[in-house]
Amino acid sequence: MQSIRKRLSIILIICTVVSILLSALLVNLTINKTFNEYMSDIQIRRDERITVYFEEVYKKENKWTSSSGIELMHEAYMNNYCLILRDSNKNILWGMNPEDVRFKDHFITMGAKGEGLFTSRTYDIKSNGKVVGYIEIGQYSPILLSKEDVNFKFAVNKSIVVSVLITILVTVLVSLSLSKQFSTPIVEVSRTSVKLSDGDYNARSEGRSNISEIKDLNDSINILGEKLKKQDEIRKRLISDISHEIRTPLNILQNNLEAMADGIFPVTSERLASLNSEVIRFGKLLDNLNVLKEFETEEIKLNIETVYIDKIVQSVVKDFAAELNEKGIDIDFNFSKDADYRIKGDVDKLKQVFINILSNAVKFSHDGGKIWIDISSDNSHVFTSIKDNGIGIDKRDLPFIFERLYRGDKSRQQIEGSGIGLTIVKKILMLHSAEISVESEIGKGTAFKISFLKQYI
Ligand code: ADP
Repeated sequence: MQSIRKRLSIILIICTVVSILLSALLVNLTINKTFNEYMSDIQIRRDERITVYFEEVYKKENKWTSSSGIELMHEAYMNNYCLILRDSNKNILWGMNPEDVRFKDHFITMGAKGEGLFTSRTYDIKSNGKVVGYIEIGQYSPILLSKEDVNFKFAVNKSIVVSVLITILVTVLVSLSLSKQFSTPIVEVSRTSVKLSDGDYNARSEGRSNISEIKDLNDSINILGEKLKKQDEIRKRLISDISHEIRTPLNILQNNLEAMADGIFPVTSERLASLNSEVIRFGKLLDNLNVLKEFETEEIKLNIETVYIDKIVQSVVKDFAAELNEKGIDIDFNFSKDADYRIKGDVDKLKQVFINILSNAVKFSHDGGKIWIDISSDNSHVFTSIKDNGIGIDKRDLPFIFERLYRGDKSRQQIEGSGIGLTIVKKILMLHSAEISVESEIGKGTAFKISFLKQYI
């Protein structure tokens, strides 16, 4: 297994080194080719110049001697080529020995094919349109280079090699830094996900990146960690809540039944009625869990018809009359008699929504408190708001009140409840494509706002 950084660096370095070497090779080949063409051009012109020279020499005396044009021998020797002058019968008038130029110090050829092999070309020397002799020009390399030419080629090649080395060095450094930039946040995310999968829900990724996908990855692993942590807390709380809820009525029942069996408590009908109420409470809790299970497993089927939100809320308020009266809670109910509050929905389920919200408002209100209920609508929505001036909800608890069995801080658990009511509310509203929001301030009160779509089916 290779780390992402190592793999990225290797890929980047291989790609750039290969492309640099390829382009260096291409540049070198092109320069060599152009240079060789240029040199061979010069050689052709040299040969023409030599031929013309001998034509001039012949013209002067109108015959050949054994020293005609011999002065060129020095130039030929210095420039590493050989001359042999022949008359019209191809008899040698004078000539240089090719061996003289073979091992000279500055006889260096670079990159020319066929070097070391003596080759010569013979040109006709003409006078008045007649061939009067031949000049043979030979050399040990197809292209002859002077010391300066060789130095020039060497300098060009050296600068190519140096620039290749510098570019490779820069590339390696840039590749290492680039791959670090990419890999560090990914490595962070991967470490965090391993920790999360090992059950360390406090693990968070600190990786920073300005690459949007990597930033999203980093953010989402942190959100995932946060959610897992909350879910874990909820799960632990759920187990302790359920066991607490079950243990309390069971203990009461057990203690009382034992006392009655031992004859410590007399078996009276009041005592039996009180024990029965504990059994009923116990049963209610199981019922609630059962309702929740139905929603969780999506067994719920809606019975869709046209319903009037104002009528539903009115009937729920009526059902609460006794409790409101008992706590001395005043209701301020606002809606317009002529407005259209029709939506499509399941009347029983929607009634359950308002029962749960209103029962919380009553439960968490002080005696003599107040509840405001508002219903309004526009072309596409029906809005409801149920607001109380009760104990309010802590800001830290607000995001979780719709979670299963979430009941906020321990102190409010003295108030009877199971932490299931709002979970059911949320599920029913989701099935109706309705949205619910909550605003609350501790000590001041709570407002639940729902917006129903008039036509969602
Ligand atoms: P419960 O059976 O505990 O009422 P819910 O799911 O209905 O369960 O509500 C979850 C928690 O939300 C409650 O325990 C309470 O802490 C908080 N809550 C809900 N409604 C109100 C309200 N109107 N005022 C204050 N707290 C509320």
